Amino acid sequence: MTFTVAIDGPAAAGKGTISKAVAVHFGFAHLDTGLLYRAVGAKVLAGGAPAEMARALDPVDLEDYSLRTPAVAQAASEVAVIPEVRSLLIDFQRKFASRIEGAVLDGRDIGTVICPDAHVKLFVTASAECRADRRYKELTGKGLDVTPEGVLADVKERDERDRNRATAPLVPAEDAILLDTSDLTIEAAIARAVGIVEAAKNAVG
Ligand code: C5P
Repeated sequence: MTFTVAIDGPAAAGKGTISKAVAVHFGFAHLDTGLLYRAVGAKVLAGGAPAEMARALDPVDLEDYSLRTPAVAQAASEVAVIPEVRSLLIDFQRKFASRIEGAVLDGRDIGTVICPDAHVKLFVTASAECRADRRYKELTGKGLDVTPEGVLADVKERDERDRNRATAPLVPAEDAILLDTSDLTIEAAIARAVGIVEAAKNAVG
């Protein structure tokens, strides 16, 4: 039987870490759907046409370490506005969601568009300042040359674009459970998410 967990939220709210931990805890497969948009964005930065790049996307493209840079994040949120790019990426995500061992997908529109029938939907948030602070530490930890102000501006700009686009905007699904991680340690946030998924699994039987 399949079991799908949809985890959405704005940039750097903690959904990636929570998703990975939930997947490990339950033995589910995990897909960071932001990587799909980042991979397309990176190819566009290199001169490709967005829809063509989305059509030609190969799963190995998602393993590229350079997808984590702020420049690629911005390019990702720009290609993510294009309806054709979004629709070309739907099949891959839905196939992943139906994996027999169970699946966790994290992104912006998983609970609303990709998996509206997911067994559990979480919407993970945190204040913009808190998210920017975490992202700054993550990026400098990887040796990237960024400033706190630059990272905050980048996070706010992407949020604004993700929330206001016409197709699949960042918005909690009506039946999503909100998890604000601003004042939670990562361990506490993971424990809450695991508890919510556990309860949903028990309810399914
Ligand atoms: O999650 P991440 O920060 O890697 O995502 C990069 C960008 O990809 C986001 O800012 C968003 O514009 C886009 N995205 C999306 N839908 C998803 C996942 C990511 O539009 N499901």
